[in-house]
Amino acid sequence: MGITRQLYQLQVIELDIESKEKAMEHSLSKLGESRALLEARGRLSAGEQYLGELKKKQQDAEWEIEDIAGKLSSAQDSLYSGSITNPKELASLQHEVEGFKNKRDSLEEKALDIMEQVEEATDELVGLRQQLEEVEGSWRQEQQQLADEIEELKTSLSKLEKEKQQALAGIDTETADCYRRLRQKKGQSVARVEQGICRGCGISLSTAELQRVKGDRLIMCNSCGRILFID
Ligand SMILES: [Zn+2]
Repeated sequence: MGITRQLYQLQVIELDIESKEKAMEHSLSKLGESRALLEARGRLSAGEQYLGELKKKQQDAEWEIEDIAGKLSSAQDSLYSGSITNPKELASLQHEVEGFKNKRDSLEEKALDIMEQVEEATDELVGLRQQLEEVEGSWRQEQQQLADEIEELKTSLSKLEKEKQQALAGIDTETADCYRRLRQKKGQSVARVEQGICRGCGISLSTAELQRVKGDRLIMCNSCGRILFID
């Protein structure tokens, strides 16, 4: 095999390694909990907290109602017991009973309002749990896919690394150094010649240059400096 073909093949292997390493980096960066998952969990936990607060409010309202009902009942007992006969005291007690009744009614209204809010928040939680399950489901699937991709890339990379060592073994040190320097400087050190054109820079080669490239020596492109390879 000619030296330029060997170098070209080495470059093909190395570029493949580079792109697979990039893919690996990308896949690795996506491993772990996603933003969508964290957000869905956050929404559920906020919903649970809100419902907890509402239930506490509901409990407080029920206690207040119980308290006022007790006060109302004992005021009514006194009123109807017949033990109080003073008209002024009776009127004031009557007034007190009315006050308790009003207070009880407004507390019951408030409790009803809270109960409706509890129902709404409970329904909302069902939706939020369902959303989280869906997000978790697709997240797990994505993670599995990523893990598979990473495994495949590892296998390919170790195979390519062996191929690279084999390709390098057939290249003398001086040529390999020249190749390496050009790779560092230009990204690609070997340029294919197709239809008389250097694919590295797009310049047309003269007939004499083409003849030289077909030989077995390293010929660089006059324009871009890359090692020319003709298939
Ligand atoms: Zn060129």
